[in-house]
Formats: sequence, structure tokens, C-alpha cells
Amino acid sequence: ADTSALLLSRIRDVADYPEPGVMFKDITPLLADPVAFAALTDALAELCVRSGATKVVGLEARGFILAAPVAVRAGLGFIPVRKAGKLPGATLSQAYELEYGSAEIEVHAEDLAAGDRVMVIDDVLATGGTAEASLRLIRRAGAEIAGVAVLMELGFLGGRERLVPALDGAPLEAL
Ligand code: 5GP
Repeated sequence: ADTSALLLSRIRDVADYPEPGVMFKDITPLLADPVAFAALTDALAELCVRSGATKVVGLEARGFILAAPVAVRAGLGFIPVRKAGKLPGATLSQAYELEYGSAEIEVHAEDLAAGDRVMVIDDVLATGGTAEASLRLIRRAGAEIAGVAVLMELGFLGGRERLVPALDGAPLEAL
């Protein structure tokens, strides 16, 4: 509870970003506070270890900032899931619907295989579209899902409800 309060105190609300009517949750004050960033890293790493994860996936771009130190702390490999066209090697792709239009994410096919248990890390769960697509991608690569862990869940956007079927029993943890 103390950790949650500390983390929440370091998240800044920015009104009308990236468009009018949206209240953006800015995590840069948390990243700039070494005590809060370390507490976040430790908490996420503990979730990884407890879940029996063998790999940590970070979702571009803020998910990378969190997942990389978590992977090191947990003693696990870090795997980037990137927007289409950014990874140089052979990839698997997964398209998904956005509020307006669609998007596509990719992972290096050789980074995941049967026997891997993957913890997916991102900063914010909003509609859940990005995380849901990442779960499909990871399963298509042959790996299993250890869980999804985020700093913050925007409950009013229904991401958890969207994600639950794709989680297939794996936990969604929001700090
Ligand atoms: P979703 O696919 O769940 O709708 O959107 C989640 C993605 O958008 C995450 O990768 C997250 O980084 C980003 N995102 C959406 N809303 C916010 C927000 O208010 N703050 C931050 N930091 N990221 C957000």
C-alpha cells in the first residue's frame, strides 16, 4: 500500500494530451525519482519471479523503460515488442483495432519459443488493445503467458474486461 501511494504520487495528470478531453497519465516524474523508480522496478520484478516467468516482454515505448530494469533485477531476458517495421530480423506480426484505425506490433520470431513463460510489462493499461495483441503474438510464437503487469490501470476504459479472455487464467496485476 505504501508503494502504491508513492508511485501514484509521482504520476502527473496532463489535461488535453494528446488531444482535447484526454487526461494523460505522465510517468516521467516517477522515472526521475530514483526511490520511486527503484520501488516500481522491485515490485514488478517480484511479480515476475513469483509468476515463474522465464522472459520479460516490454511494450514499446514506455514499457521498454520499465521492463528492461525489471528483467535485469529478476535475472530474466528482455524481449521487445515493437511497432511494425522497427525490428531488423524475421518477425511475427499482430494487427489490432484502435479507436480510430488500426495498429500492428511485432516480435522477433526467434526470441520466444515453446517452454517460455512470458510476463508482459507496460506502463498504462488503457483500452487493453495493445496488451491483448501482445498476448496473441506471444502465444503465436509458441510461448505461454505468465501474466501482464502494469504500473497503472485506467479502469474506466475497460481494459481488464477486454484482456481477461486473452489472459486465459493468467493474472493481470496493476500496481
Ligand atoms: P491501450 O492499448 O490499452 O488502449 O493503450 C495502452 C498503450 O497506450 C500503452 O502502451 C500506454 O503506454 C499508452 N497509453 C494510453 N494512455 C496513456 C496514458 O494516459 N498515459 C501513459 N503513460 N500511457 C498511455
